[in-house]
Amino acid sequence: MDSSQFRQAAHAAIDQVIDYYDNIRDRRVLSDVQPGYLRELIPPGIPETGEKWEDIQQDIEAKIMPGLTHWQSPNFLAFFPANSSYPGILGDIYSGAFTCAAFNWQCSPAVTELETIVLDNVAKLINLPEAYHSTGEGGGVIQGTASEAIVTVVVAARDRYIARSKEQWATEGLNDDEIEDRVCTLRGKLVALGSDQAHSSTKKAAIIAGVRCETIETAMGDYSLNGELVTKKIENLEKRGLIPFYLTVTLGTTPTCATDDFASISAALSTYHTANPTKPKIWTHVDAAYAGAALILPEYSHIPSIWPTFADSFDFNMHKWLLTNFDCSCLYVKRRRDLIDALSITPAYLRNEYSDSGLVTDYRDWQIPLGRRFRSLKAWFVTRSFGVEGLRAHVQKALDGGELFTKLLEGDKERYELVAKPAFALNVFRVNPPPAVAKELGGNKKEFARRSNEITKKVADRVNKEGKIFITPTVLGKGDEAITAIRVVGGSPSIQPKDLESAFNIITEVVTAVWE
Ligand code: PLP
Repeated sequence: MDSSQFRQAAHAAIDQVIDYYDNIRDRRVLSDVQPGYLRELIPPGIPETGEKWEDIQQDIEAKIMPGLTHWQSPNFLAFFPANSSYPGILGDIYSGAFTCAAFNWQCSPAVTELETIVLDNVAKLINLPEAYHSTGEGGGVIQGTASEAIVTVVVAARDRYIARSKEQWATEGLNDDEIEDRVCTLRGKLVALGSDQAHSSTKKAAIIAGVRCETIETAMGDYSLNGELVTKKIENLEKRGLIPFYLTVTLGTTPTCATDDFASISAALSTYHTANPTKPKIWTHVDAAYAGAALILPEYSHIPSIWPTFADSFDFNMHKWLLTNFDCSCLYVKRRRDLIDALSITPAYLRNEYSDSGLVTDYRDWQIPLGRRFRSLKAWFVTRSFGVEGLRAHVQKALDGGELFTKLLEGDKERYELVAKPAFALNVFRVNPPPAVAKELGGNKKEFARRSNEITKKVADRVNKEGKIFITPTVLGKGDEAITAIRVVGGSPSIQPKDLESAFNIITEVVTAVWE
């Protein structure tokens, strides 16, 4: 493809993308192809001679589209949103064009410097305290995902705990061999913690970091972690000879968007650390993968002010609810040295005068991979194009839609019951058994719950099979108490209140059919 062919192909591709967005609501939101569908459509092997772009482009509609679930559709109400926008797409186009794997400042100074500037601007946008800005000891870095951010901080937390333990043992007069013996024993005892509502990425990070992981159970219906639960868990671990070194707390949990009680957790950790001055501090990470975007609204902007008292790091995905194409996960740390100490390795071929001068940031030392894309471009384009007002309006629109959906659910108590407090545009509810069945069951709550679980699952599966909207069935709690529920959250850029009304009607029609 030469430059004039590229010009033509790129125009055709952009036209197709614009048509896709303009007509997205008419497409079936959830793909209904069967596993392996694509093998039958694509001839095996690579063609001996190159094909024309027109032929390749045709396969987008014919072969790829049928296997796509349309996350940008206003009918996508599942999981959490993964917003895109035209400015975000432009950022990815330029990033692809430049393709600089800018692991060091020297590899492309603009890639590093823009990332620092954009992340400081985003920190201000979400009212993140200065402790996490690059102007002090902290700073932000763009990671691929919230999971990647958690792996990164768990590794840093583990190494910081070990390094501080070594320092402590040295002050107690232990020699190098004795210290190494202790490190070996310590490694087997380190425990990463998160609540039973924390995202599974904490568990995955612990597996990757080679440490234990335990969960702290939260109360049914509330689903948030608090200081008392944290203290009890720490006491329990210590009685068992284990060592808590890391804790994930969440703003907006995945199942219900619950928010942990940051004030009481901060107080509990402070009490623990004051009572144990020789023990290294527990690294606490605030995971706000989805709900962090809401911090741009004045209503939520007070939340981060307490984080510096206990949180070493914070992460949220601009690629979820802030109009920035996947991937753009913003990780902030209070002390960048903690990341660098754990992750910096400098073989001869990576040395250069700028890195040696200590005057530049080398983001390779803040992440797991070496190479990195120019992801800050899309965040820069998005924040500049929408401005604070545009971004706030987008988030507010989703919150308004969520409230509307809550009202619709509350207005039909015969059919629906909310099983968690609606938060951040997410509604989690279950479907009741038909009124006649409910009457038959009298006050038998256990049987009522069992029937409700069955019906809720049936409704969710049937709605998704129809494919007009896409919702997520989930299970809250476990054992006899387990509740099958449906999660509905609409945050796509094009969503309107009428889409949520229509989604409610689609679900209600299915409930009526299942009841019969
Ligand atoms: N943390 C929370 C609270 C989430 O809800 C999710 C995903 O929805 C994640 C982490 C993982 O996000 P990612 O796909 O960016 O790894």
